[in-house]
Amino acid sequence: SKVKSLEELGISSTILKKLQEMGITTVEALAAANAQELSQNLAIPLQTVQRLISQARNALGLGLKTALEIKKERMSLPKITTGSKNLDTLLGGGIEVKTITELFGEFGSGKTQICHQLAVNVQLPPEKGGLSKRAIYIDTEGTFRWERIEAMARAIGMNPDEAMENILYVRAVNSDHQMAIAEELKEIIPKENIGLVVVDSITGHFRAEYPGRENLAVRQQKLNRHLHQLMSIAELFDVAVVVTNQVMARPDVFYGDPTVAIGGHVLYHAPGIRVQLKKSRGNRRIARVVDAPHLPESEAVFAITEAGIRD
Ligand code: ADP
Ligand code: MG
Repeated sequence: SKVKSLEELGISSTILKKLQEMGITTVEALAAANAQELSQNLAIPLQTVQRLISQARNALGLGLKTALEIKKERMSLPKITTGSKNLDTLLGGGIEVKTITELFGEFGSGKTQICHQLAVNVQLPPEKGGLSKRAIYIDTEGTFRWERIEAMARAIGMNPDEAMENILYVRAVNSDHQMAIAEELKEIIPKENIGLVVVDSITGHFRAEYPGRENLAVRQQKLNRHLHQLMSIAELFDVAVVVTNQVMARPDVFYGDPTVAIGGHVLYHAPGIRVQLKKSRGNRRIARVVDAPHLPESEAVFAITEAGIRD
């Protein structure tokens, strides 16, 4: 029989309480904890802490899974349709929960339009490509338009007012505010039946507040902390997190390694899916998945229409 709670490990109630204050409430969390940090925070000897952690690890076993189990877990993760079959196929079915998806590309490449579409589509029932859930839209640039939500909802036969009621909007005025909002998400998500968190854009405030090369280290450090907040939210609450990142157009490197050439990928050091968007003729856009080992290196063409994202 598997040990399921910290209480069952026989940890004293004083230490239990301290662990809880640190946010360590499960055997898994204790097994993954850093011994040095715990020792300092709990003010108990390192040896004692190491014993606690190995107790937790033993209780969990090695955690071996078969490849088939991993496949089943992965395949059963729900996805949100983008509205374009081409784009969905490129993404392996749509935008995944428990994952951060970064949409990056030049101005006008369709990042914000896709975010609007996903905020509508997440509300669809699973058989139609949604999660029957609501969206949180963190807008840092003031480019959110309820008119687009209304039009996109109407186009798929959804009641526009209901669709708008199911999108919780917040304008982040600076990077500190943006991070404070991300912190609050832990309280909001479980209460409000949220399936999607949008941050449009994730980088804007950070770039403006920490400009240039000389601030690069601080900026990246802060951004990493922000990403970490978002990653744990995605993992903990089974939500999809979609972030946008505006980068300069560099058509010359579209087929090379854009990671190095464009610079400023937010997800460079974080797991997740990076989708590069590029303008094409008229309302056509080209999407490419960058650096995802499980997805084929290919492109998808989609269109931005009055009705929303389409093939
Ligand atoms: P980004 O966020 O990447 O800068 P957007 O997502 O805002 O770009 O995309 C802007 C483009 O979306 C516009 O150039 C326009 O072609 C298209 N677009 C915006 N609104 C509409 C609409 N109502 N009908 C058709 N196309 C639209
Ligand atoms: Mg935009």
